Amino acid sequence: MSKQETSCVCGSVKITAGSVNPKFTVCHCDNCRAWGGAPFFAVQCGTNVQFEGAENVKEYNSSTWAARGFCRECGTHLFYKLKKTGEYNMPVGLFPDTQGLEMVMQYFSDQRPSYYCFSNKTEEMTREEIFAYFASEI
Ligand SMILES: [Zn+2]
Ligand SMILES: [Zn+2]
Repeated sequence: MSKQETSCVCGSVKITAGSVNPKFTVCHCDNCRAWGGAPFFAVQCGTNVQFEGAENVKEYNSSTWAARGFCRECGTHLFYKLKKTGEYNMPVGLFPDTQGLEMVMQYFSDQRPSYYCFSNKTEEMTREEIFAYFASEI
């Protein structure tokens, strides 16, 4: 998907994402579900992301390898950013162009509670598989 522009709910933060990968992921981990109240639907936006009104972006150091960002004014969740690479994973709901979006991966499938289940057929990774796979990057 090509360049996309969007903003937080109140408009204090305007975002330009240079390229949005339409193959999005879902994270069922405890942190994501506590942070957003539901699993985190994330699109990979790489490092080419610009913020207008960056002074209104608050970053929270959620782990040694990643930070989570949100708007100071309205609380809209803006990103999950990998510290090492600077790559942004952003909520799919921020982007108005939904053409071609496809759910391809569910992370922390073993932390998904029993009260919901998606019918989408996707790849899945458990906590153990994720830590094994990303061990070199974390
Ligand atoms: Zn806002
Ligand atoms: Zn998560």
